[in-house]
Amino acid sequence: MRINCRTWFGREPQSSWRNSLRLSTCVAGLLPVLLAAGAASSILEMSPPISGLTLANLRDSFEEVHNGHRHEAIDIQAPRGTPVHAVVSGTVRKLFLSKPGGNTIYEFDEMEVYCYYYAHLDGYVKGLHEGMRVERGDVIGYVGSTGNADPSAPHLHFTIFDLGPEKLWWKGEAVDPYPGLVAAVKRAK
Ligand SMILES: [Zn+2]
Repeated sequence: MRINCRTWFGREPQSSWRNSLRLSTCVAGLLPVLLAAGAASSILEMSPPISGLTLANLRDSFEEVHNGHRHEAIDIQAPRGTPVHAVVSGTVRKLFLSKPGGNTIYEFDEMEVYCYYYAHLDGYVKGLHEGMRVERGDVIGYVGSTGNADPSAPHLHFTIFDLGPEKLWWKGEAVDPYPGLVAAVKRAK
């Protein structure tokens, strides 16, 4: 199976102290009552994008090279048409049809710190539109093989981008979603 899902090129990695500073500034400025660090990262609050996901369904392919590019995502195999759920609450920032990614969703979390990216979708849930608020667990689309995915192996290509200060949907630093997904699956049990 040949998959090339990389659809963009990130910026230089930011140092962790800068991220921490930015997160603290956000929290302090917007939501002063939020409790400490846990509230700052939506990754810690993720729920699985596919119902009934198990650890056996997850394999960390973030660092693998697919078609000459670092994959920077993980692929979750599932039958075509399987509902895909928003992993966090946030806003649908962009619905984009890309040559490699097919039907894609770029969802910003509430703090606009991370963008959650869902690709190769068979389609979007009826009524989904840009700027729409979604809650964690809402069905937003369906597993498929649009873009450059092998039609005989439908899957969800999923990753997370650290948006940085510019907060642009097409620009971000990929973050390995594997640890967050493992934690989400364990919490969902
Ligand atoms: Zn992929």
